[in-house]
Amino acid sequence: MTLTLTRPDLIRSGNFINGQWQNSKKNEQYPVSNPANGLVFAQAANSTADDAKLAIEAAYVAFEDWRNLPAKARSQCLIRWHKLILDNSEDLARIMSFEQGKPLAEARGEVAYGASYVDWFASEALRTYGDIIPEAVQGKKLMVVKEPVGVVAAITPWNFPLAMIARKIAPALAAGCTVVAKPAEDTPLTALALVVLAEEAGIPAGVLNIITSSRDRVSDVVGVWLTDSRVRKITFTGSTAVGKILARESASTLKHLSLELGGNAPFIVFEDADLDAAVEGLMAAKFRNGGQTCVCPNRIYVHDSVYDAFADKLTERVSSLKVGPWDRDDSQIGPMINDRAIDKIQQHVQDALQHGAKLLTGGERIQNAIATGPNYFAPTVLIDANHNMQLAHDETFGPVAPLFRFRSEQEVIEAANNTPFGLAGYFYSNDIKRVWRVSNKMQTGIVGINEGAIASETAPFGGVKESGYGREGSRYGLDDYMDTKYLCQGNL
Ligand code: ADP
Repeated sequence: MTLTLTRPDLIRSGNFINGQWQNSKKNEQYPVSNPANGLVFAQAANSTADDAKLAIEAAYVAFEDWRNLPAKARSQCLIRWHKLILDNSEDLARIMSFEQGKPLAEARGEVAYGASYVDWFASEALRTYGDIIPEAVQGKKLMVVKEPVGVVAAITPWNFPLAMIARKIAPALAAGCTVVAKPAEDTPLTALALVVLAEEAGIPAGVLNIITSSRDRVSDVVGVWLTDSRVRKITFTGSTAVGKILARESASTLKHLSLELGGNAPFIVFEDADLDAAVEGLMAAKFRNGGQTCVCPNRIYVHDSVYDAFADKLTERVSSLKVGPWDRDDSQIGPMINDRAIDKIQQHVQDALQHGAKLLTGGERIQNAIATGPNYFAPTVLIDANHNMQLAHDETFGPVAPLFRFRSEQEVIEAANNTPFGLAGYFYSNDIKRVWRVSNKMQTGIVGINEGAIASETAPFGGVKESGYGREGSRYGLDDYMDTKYLCQGNL
């Protein structure tokens, strides 16, 4: 398995601060490995608090000029960046597959998806309108203008190495903010390649800075950003546990926060659903990215009267999924990201079986002539799932579909909402009254109604409850990066 690129210079191993590629201050690196075979194939800067501080300084200095550029000039930078991402999409997809493991077709899809946010916010940059408020008393003019919040720190996960960082950087730059970013330690290279292209797009020095670090350094590095008052916003996608740390530790300087955290998505199949459509929707939502997304259904509730039929149809589809490395055209499920991930999946399946679940397909690691590495897990269907199982409460983050049985609408809504999380929820029903009733009761930020593919740059993505707050994408997506300033002119 080799990584051949049209532009090998997209692979970088340093930090990018104030327009310069540079080693970490301590001149240290950490290894980046390929999850398909566990082999180290690159090095990335192992930054320290000093590097994090340098990045803030650069972003803070660059902010004044960047915010004062006409919106059209900022928009044009984003348009050029978008074009460069598309022009280099094959290389970006290959780098992503190599470090993250996802099949190449999915990586290509993610490049297009991530790029769509850059395109979207290039346009939204032009529409940060204010308001004129009708005067309450004579002789006063009341106005509202929108201003960028300042330096933004973006911290992203490994499951979507390009899309998660693009959908944070693009609105920040569109709003007039400058950025310090840290991608996940497992997948730094895609983000660094994206920054190479941002530099080529003419984004000025200091406006976009990126540093990398190993897992054991991350709290030192990000800690600097959390406590420095020049950083005015933290935007984060990742686990709820880390999101809470960020919220707590940034409180001393009261920063804006956008937190897109863990989910525990319910997927409900009512007795009046189109079962074939529900199976297809579940396949799309559950098995994308090997089940490693925060909107993947984690609990699948199926009405008693269609339970067996649904389980049969689903099992037929799941057992035919092809597991293999990114560079095989027929691979549909790649390796899991690392051994921590695979241990958790295995633990969830074992625990479910001990608590009465039955296995219809999968259930174990795979290692064979095609899936040769240690991180492959067979796509799995479990029936007779119940709420005593770990997988009912905790995201499995893998290709495991547990089916719970229900008998009434009220019962299933209560079960679906009985979680601290509230990112995405899905249900299938052909009863129009039920569709409105259930949509209204779902305690999630996103509801898929007879639909498993919900992500779009044109729509607001984000959660409620302990899945966090803030929205990415859509016309609402820029609000998170802007303050509202009220101007009151008197004595007219
Ligand atoms: P996962 O468990 O899926 O890796 P995490 O929430 O741990 O999700 O990681 C998401 C991002 O948060 C990564 O960039 C990671 O390096 C970063 N991160 C992890 N722990 C901390 C921490 N204590 N402080 C700040 N960032 C962290």
